[in-house]
Amino acid sequence: MKVLLVFAHPDPRSLNGALRDVAVAELVAQGHEVKVSDLYAEGWKSEVDRTDFPALLDDQRLIPVAASKQAFNGNTLTPDVKAEIDKLLWADVLILQFPLWWFAMPAILKGWVDRVFAYGFAYGVGEHSEARWGDRYGEGTLAGKRAMLIVTAGGWEEHYSPRGVNGPIEDLLFPINHGILYYPGYEVLPPHVVYRVDRFSAADFTTAAEQLRERMRTLATTAPIAYRRQNGGDYLIPKMQLRPDLEDPGANGFALHINGAGN
Ligand SMILES: Cc1cc2nc3c(=O)[nH]c(=O)nc-3n(C[C@H](O)[C@H](O)[C@H](O)COP(=O)(O)OP(=O)(O)OC[C@H]3O[C@@H](n4cnc5c(N)ncnc54)[C@H](O)[C@@H]3O)c2cc1C
Repeated sequence: MKVLLVFAHPDPRSLNGALRDVAVAELVAQGHEVKVSDLYAEGWKSEVDRTDFPALLDDQRLIPVAASKQAFNGNTLTPDVKAEIDKLLWADVLILQFPLWWFAMPAILKGWVDRVFAYGFAYGVGEHSEARWGDRYGEGTLAGKRAMLIVTAGGWEEHYSPRGVNGPIEDLLFPINHGILYYPGYEVLPPHVVYRVDRFSAADFTTAAEQLRERMRTLATTAPIAYRRQNGGDYLIPKMQLRPDLEDPGANGFALHINGAGN
């Protein structure tokens, strides 16, 4: 398979850097082709601004959605964004790797999503009408491909458990897994989260590296999270609400959108 790993840590000598090297080495050993987008090393520009839309006239107001649509359709997106889109189209698997910062991805990676997931490419795809709300949530440009997160966290696994004070990790990562990856069509694998990393010892690293290698060996066979497809019949259109009585017993909140979540 072809794998794109998007890496968001400022220092290659970090724990994240070491884990990235482990992941890449294992993927290559398994015969996969790998490309890495190292956002800090490449000086990725994270903010959306006028320079993203060279076709915009000087006196024209910047409306990001409209400008993104125009630039994608007119093939006037900037070369850095086009290059990332080409890599996404090339890859069978997308991996986003980052340290958890304030319960979210580092700003540079959010900015990669903001700029690369353009209108007409990652959103605004397909028919939008009273009968159909576009090709999204399981359908779209990136359908048929797989994606997963590799995340390091200072907090303990228990802190991110269903009753943990930080909130369940599945909920914290839902906006990324469901809102960013499933939205344009990816099948999303369960995240690989490494906990309690700030005082990681060499022995901890050895264990974490082996667990990561195993995830890389099973990229093609790991069952994706069973998110419900928007256009699969589970949702009322155009309200886009889960049909009454479809939820699994005990499921609420984000879990409503996962088949079998209450079991
Ligand atoms: C702004 C900010 C916000 C944060 N918010 C959160 C949050 O919301 N929730 C949360 O849980 N945590 C949070 N953290 C903690 C953060 O998630 C961790 O600091 C981060 O995941 C550690 O990853 P790293 O790659 O930077 O580790 P590093 O700091 O590079 O390394 C961590 C430890 O691993 C050791 N180590 C062991 N083996 C190796 C090896 N082979 N290579 C390199 N290092 C090794 C290092 O010596 C070090 O002690 C936050 C941190 C910051 C800076």
